[in-house]
Amino acid sequence: MRGAPGGRATAPGHPGRVGASSLVRVTELADLPIRDDLRGLSPYGAPQIDVPIQLNVNENNFGIPAEVAADIVAAVAEVVSGVNRYPDREFTALREALAAFLGDGVTAEQIWAANGSNEVIQQFLQAFGGPGRSLLGFTPSYSMYPLYARGTHTTWRTASRDADFTLRPEAAAAAVREARPDVVVLARPNNPTGTALGLDVIEAVYEATDGMVLVDEAYQEFSELPSAVGLLPGRPRLAVSRTMSKAFAFAGVRLGYLVADPAVGDALRLVRLPYHLSALTQAAATAALGHASEMLANVDAIKRQRDRIIAELPGLGYSPWPSESNFVLFGGVADPQRTFRTLIERGIIIRDVGIPHTLRVTAGTAEETTAFLAALAETPNN
Ligand code: PMP
Repeated sequence: MRGAPGGRATAPGHPGRVGASSLVRVTELADLPIRDDLRGLSPYGAPQIDVPIQLNVNENNFGIPAEVAADIVAAVAEVVSGVNRYPDREFTALREALAAFLGDGVTAEQIWAANGSNEVIQQFLQAFGGPGRSLLGFTPSYSMYPLYARGTHTTWRTASRDADFTLRPEAAAAAVREARPDVVVLARPNNPTGTALGLDVIEAVYEATDGMVLVDEAYQEFSELPSAVGLLPGRPRLAVSRTMSKAFAFAGVRLGYLVADPAVGDALRLVRLPYHLSALTQAAATAALGHASEMLANVDAIKRQRDRIIAELPGLGYSPWPSESNFVLFGGVADPQRTFRTLIERGIIIRDVGIPHTLRVTAGTAEETTAFLAALAETPNN
């Protein structure tokens, strides 16, 4: 297992470190006075299994160019000597770099950032959701949405997509008028289905609510449609979240961001923890944004592999859905868990997202895609 704890907390000879004996477990979770609504739950997380071909969490599998890595290391090295001080809590240089990256007149005041768009969305719900309030999502969608809701004591409501997972403006607006949520979340492209979402749906949803509308564009760089950032002028209740984890090949750093009216940032400042973005994160992300074109250089190659997966799966007896993202959801899987395990034995990990008879695969390099398609072709499916 990747990242499994291995007694790393013991360090003989280092005063102040935790000793081995105090690591012995003397109780079970069920015996602790934990919040009632967390009792009996399991933590969220895709399996982290150390196999050679990782196609399960929609990362950019190309890695980052050596020259860019060297520049990031230099930028981090520069701030390390000052880490006795807390970082710039306003992450000013990073916000300016993100605004410049987005272009289209976006200013640093419109940018918020946190440790992954996961943290951005959680903060958004801490500020705009909460007890007595609700979040509406269109399912199937990103499985963290109900968990952010639970963690912030926000009621999670769902409305359905059409059978092909698309969303029409009238139907989406009607669902919003009926549920009257405080926050609507729209993933575009949607995860786990890869489905595109027209800007007309966002406009219709915005008109149908007095609440906040959060557009989650984690995979926007892979889409042919323009970003919803273009809809922000004149829409103060609209926010667009993005991430450096996917196309930008920076998942390990944990940097997500949000673009909105500066007042939305003021709301998020009320709930963020002090100095939530470390000096190292700020330096690394700012340096990487200085190399945006190199970081994004493989997006077209990834899209080609995605389209190749979509083109080749029907020949193997599977039915892929169209995707505007860097992954493909495919149906026709007799037993998803069995196929998942067979592929693991062949050194390939993909994702069972819990939709019956489907699996989801990330588009990686050409070699990884070839290996995945070859292994799947040899996997029994009946
Ligand atoms: N939104 C969607 C739709 C996602 O798929 C993910 C990651 N799987 C995220 C947000 C969060 O990503 P991160 O925290 O790495 O920015």
